[in-house]
Amino acid sequence: MDKNLPISVLEDLGKEAKIIITTHHKPDADAMGSSLGLKNFLLKLGYNPIVITPTDYAPFLHWMKGDEDVIEYEGAEAKADELILDADVVFCLDFNDLKRINEMGLVVERSNAIKVMVDHHRLPVGFDDYRYWTIDTSSTAELIYDLIHDWGKAEAIDKDIASCLYAGISSDTGGFKHGNTSSSTHLAVAELIQKGADNTDITDKLLDNFSENRTRLIGYSIYEKLEIFPEYRTALITLTREELERFKVKTGDTEGLVNYGLSIEGVIFAALIIDRTVMVKMSLRSKGDFPCNEVAAQYFGGGGHRNASGGASKDTLEGTINTFKKALVEYKDKLWAED
Ligand code: 5GP
Ligand code: MN
Repeated sequence: MDKNLPISVLEDLGKEAKIIITTHHKPDADAMGSSLGLKNFLLKLGYNPIVITPTDYAPFLHWMKGDEDVIEYEGAEAKADELILDADVVFCLDFNDLKRINEMGLVVERSNAIKVMVDHHRLPVGFDDYRYWTIDTSSTAELIYDLIHDWGKAEAIDKDIASCLYAGISSDTGGFKHGNTSSSTHLAVAELIQKGADNTDITDKLLDNFSENRTRLIGYSIYEKLEIFPEYRTALITLTREELERFKVKTGDTEGLVNYGLSIEGVIFAALIIDRTVMVKMSLRSKGDFPCNEVAAQYFGGGGHRNASGGASKDTLEGTINTFKKALVEYKDKLWAED
């Protein structure tokens, strides 16, 4: 791994070092698990890091140790700006382009802090001084686990750190079933369970802990809104603003919804397109070699992984759906390419 941060850089700064940890817009379990895992680890070493998220995050992620001290940028801009500009080190976890942290990106850019990127997404943008980056590791949480080992500090991993990292790894691997799951992933989680991560309890917190409205939204979306395009091996769900209001949709409620389309026999490409008022956001998922991140990049200014990507559009919901349908026509050959 190139330009990895040596632990001596932190040691030289001393325990008073001002350390900020941040992660991407609408953090998911990997973003929060890696951020709070690293925070709890650094606390254990005697540092006092602060986690700042660009936005809020789902209620089912608020159980991790240290959550109560997380600063959400939206609504605390002045204080957060001061902390970032005054920092010695800023860890950027689970993203590699400052655009992924909205307005906060400009502040991180302006800060003289040492910037450390830990990430597993393609095509990193070079804003970092040190990076722990690969696309061959399941999750940023697994990278934090590896980083702690590379630093020779594995003995510091306790139940709280292990629980955060387990949450990130299990979530980004879809419960150890996606193609990014390796034997190293299983070895890592085996150690995390040994160190006290309660796998059953964490899975319950992440997957069986939703609001009634969310479950009804899923039922509605599958029954009323799911469209299948067999000629493109594609499934699409779209949601309007009115539907979001009707089901009182909160941050995190639509996470995972896109996967229902992909679970249908013959479907290899699934999309969820949602009118989020300020913009139309989409989640794309695929199976096998079909690169859904190319569709995200080409049509929706986005990106991500081959099998899980996303993007956004300033167009109307209808306009965005039409663009998506045009993309299907253009990608028809790739959608039918033999794996
Ligand atoms: P999700 O569908 O869960 O929001 O995002 C899945 C993956 O797609 C994320 O891990 C991230 O890599 C990528 N992604 C989602 N939205 C965007 C976006 O607007 N821009 C970029 N570059 N990547 C995105
Ligand atoms: Mn991730």
